[in-house]
This record gives sequence, structure tokens and C-alpha cells, in this order.
Amino acid sequence: VTATIPAHEKIIESIVNGEVIQSVEIVEAQQVKELKAKHFISRWVAPFGTIFINLLKLIAVPLILASLIKGISDLKDISKIKSMGLRTISIYIGTTVIAIIIGLSIVNVVKPGIGMPEETIEKIKLKYENDEGVVDKLTKASEQKDAGPLRALVDIFPSNVFESFVEASMLQVIFFALFVGISLLLIGEKKAKPLVDFFDSLNEVVMKMVDLIMLFAPYAVFALLANVIVAFDDTEILVKLLYYAFCVVGGLILMIGFYLLLISVYTKKSPLWFLKQISPAQLLAFSTSSSAATLPVTMERVEEHLGVDKEVSGFVLPVGATVNMDGTSLYQGIAAVFIMQVIWPEGLTFTNQLVIVVTALLASIGSAAVPSAGMVMLVIVLESIGFPAELLPIGLALIFAVDRPLDMCRTVVNVTGDATVSMMVAKSLNKLHDPKPKEWDDHYDEVK
Ligand code: ASP
Repeated sequence: VTATIPAHEKIIESIVNGEVIQSVEIVEAQQVKELKAKHFISRWVAPFGTIFINLLKLIAVPLILASLIKGISDLKDISKIKSMGLRTISIYIGTTVIAIIIGLSIVNVVKPGIGMPEETIEKIKLKYENDEGVVDKLTKASEQKDAGPLRALVDIFPSNVFESFVEASMLQVIFFALFVGISLLLIGEKKAKPLVDFFDSLNEVVMKMVDLIMLFAPYAVFALLANVIVAFDDTEILVKLLYYAFCVVGGLILMIGFYLLLISVYTKKSPLWFLKQISPAQLLAFSTSSSAATLPVTMERVEEHLGVDKEVSGFVLPVGATVNMDGTSLYQGIAAVFIMQVIWPEGLTFTNQLVIVVTALLASIGSAAVPSAGMVMLVIVLESIGFPAELLPIGLALIFAVDRPLDMCRTVVNVTGDATVSMMVAKSLNKLHDPKPKEWDDHYDEVK
């Protein structure tokens, strides 16, 4: 019996209910206070965060569908999609490989995993090995692996698109939208018009919904963060893992620096201005840990505040949210080597690190844009280098405690990376405009 109300009341209640009391845990008054605070946050504050995330998820599928179909049909010409598609995918792959190399360089120089005391490993093992979260990630990873190497490819092609909508399988929805969009281009403007108009209007509606939902954002972000903060109470192990976490965060900061360099050199825009405009999307990525949930806001910021033409952002951003995860791949590189440094040093060969570059690239493409997806795919990275299966639970347990805050940070990088690439693609296609200040729009509407 853990009593957050006076103990005797709880015990009496249990006896009255005919429950068998097996043990009574005595908790200090201070702990009772903390438990009460946690209870309050999870019952009265966190649900507002959940409502907000639900609303964002609600519009994710219509948004991808409408913006991609509209984005493609706006191109008016099939050759443009070829050039934009190729450009986008090559820059995505390029930035992801750079992210992994940054991650691997840091972890090899700093070596956060070397010299971790035996008893700490033992402690972590005891605490987390049978933890539901760890077990759940291992099961998910083994399901992914058992399905064979081409499974991820097969999964992109839906047999029933309504099922893809219901399950919000983003890659399938993207495929369907691309398919519809390209077919619309091929049947010619006249025949395509009614459907294009429909998606055009749907797109406007969804963007308006984003505006409305965002009115609620400041409260939701507070609710989400409050809930994450109370979930962490194990400071001792947290401190032990800080070293590793610093490496990941350091790498992520370097990656943001690299984006700012690209923005300033390639698009000739001020990096600070870019950061200011994209920051609401970053804050949301940080509090939701999901690029998919952040997508509506990323699109709004990139189109309205960074001046990227809708034709470009409508294609680059939805694809990027699922495919381009620089933060995730950087983290996977560091986490894999860190785990090896602690429990499997003999695996630390140069060849293995090269394999990590390739598998972390694929794993980040395959990671869903939802919280913790990167950690599930990390198992696949580890397995690809022959990491002993019996050590896997310990490996995951090792980094589990700090994974949520790192997930929050890597999602910020994932989203910033997508925004950067959309600016670059827009610049290269001459589709980067000076964003109009919002007041101009209002004024224009009035005059009209
Ligand atoms: N949460 C990340 C995202 O949505 C994926 C991950 O690294 O777990 O971008």
C-alpha cells in the first residue's frame, strides 16, 4: 500500500474493501508532498497537453494530403517535380551523413562511456532491465527486424488507403498523396481542376485550423513540460549519464550551428532572423518530441515567416518530417558507440563505425516521427554491427533514463533541419521570397 492520503485511512479503506495487504511502504512526509504534486500535475495539468497533441494529430493526415497534392499540382509540370525531388533527397541524405559523422567524432574524442564504474552498470541493470519501457522497445525492434530487410520498403505501399489514414502511417499517406498529385499533373489542367480546387481549399482550411490551435499553444507547452519534469526523480543515475547526454546535446548544438552556416552562406539570410522565425516550431518540437505533431506549425513558420514558396514547402516539409532526421541519426551514432564503450568495448572497430554511418542513416529514415522512435531503431543499428543479443537490454537500460530529454532535443534538430533544407531548395529554385509582414496582409484585406 502506498498511501498519499494519511496512511491509516488508506489501510482502513483496503481492509473494508477486503483487500489483502501484502506490504506497507512507509514514505516520508516530503515524499508524500511530492507524490501529491505529481498526482495533481498528471490529473489536472497534463491532460491539456494531451488535448493539444490530439488536435495536432487530428490535422496531420489532412494536412499532408492537402499540402502535398496541392504542392505537386502547383508545379504544373512533371519535370519540376523530378528536379525538386532529387535535390531535396540529396540534401537530406547529405545533412544526415554529416550529422552522424559529427556524432561519431564527438563520442570517439570525449569517450563518455569509458571508465563507468562496474556498480553503476549493475545498478542501472537492476533498475531498468525489466522495465516496461525497455522491454517494449526491444519487442518493437525485434518485430521490425523479423519482418525482413525489404519490409520497410513494402510498408510504404498501402493496400487500403483508409487504413493508412486511420493508423496515420505517414509514409503511406505521403506515397498516396504523391501518387494522386502526379496523376493530377498527368491528366492536364482542365480535367484536374475540380479536384485541385478541392485540395486547395482543404489546404486553406487546415492552415486556418493550425492558426486556431496555436492560440492554445503557450498553455499546452507549459502543461507538456510540467509533466515531463515531474517524471524525473532519479537524480543519481541521471548525474552518471550526464556526460553522455552532454555529448549528444553538444553534437546537436553543432548541428544547429551547421544549419545556420548553410542559411547564411547559401541562402544569404541572417542566421539570427532564421532562428527567431523558426523558434515557435522548435519550442513545440521540444515539448512534443514529435516532428509529425510539429509539422503543421513548421509549415506555417516556413511559409509565412521564412518566405519559402508553398510549392516548395508543401513537398519538402511533409517528406522531411518522416525521412530527414539529423538529430535522431546523430544521437543513434553517439548512443551506439557509448553503449559499446561501456559494455562491449571489443566491438569498437573502425569498420563497425562505418557500418553505423550507413545503418544510422537508414534507421533515421525509417524512424517514425513520434516520441522515442529513434530509440527503437537504435536497436537495429546495434544489431547490424553484431552487438551481442544478451547485452541489448542492458544497453538500452543504460541510456533509458535520459532518453526523453534527449528525444526532446533531437526533435528540435530534426525540425530545424527540415526548415533549413526547405530554405535551400527554395533558394536553388528561385522560390525564396521576402516574407511580407503580417500587417500588410491585414491591410491588403481591408483595402480589398
Ligand atoms: N522523436 C523524434 C521525432 O519525432 C524521433 C526520435 O528520434 O525518436 O523527430
